[in-house]
Amino acid sequence: MITCPKCGNRIPARMPLFLTRFNTTITCTTCASKLQWKNKRTGSLIGGVGGGVGGGFGTLLLINWSQTGNVVYLILFAGLLATVFFAAWVAMVKFTRFEQVTA
Ligand SMILES: [Zn+2]
Repeated sequence: MITCPKCGNRIPARMPLFLTRFNTTITCTTCASKLQWKNKRTGSLIGGVGGGVGGGFGTLLLINWSQTGNVVYLILFAGLLATVFFAAWVAMVKFTRFEQVTA
């Protein structure tokens, strides 16, 4: 659960999905405060682990698929991507913190 440091209202869980290395601010949907992503390092860690696990297992599954032609590997691959995506999302919602931009 992410909350706004100013008004204390919760920030929609989809918001961390819009954070990137280049876009680190969001606007509170309740009080319209500009919020700065506080723990960018945690985010890139989650992204790195997710990308590593997804990329590693994904490559293995695709190699298996190309060698066997078994569609099961493609289904597993899709499932893997979905699982990694949701796990990373949940982790982002759990760990992302914001601070108000004072400008
Ligand atoms: Zn707010």
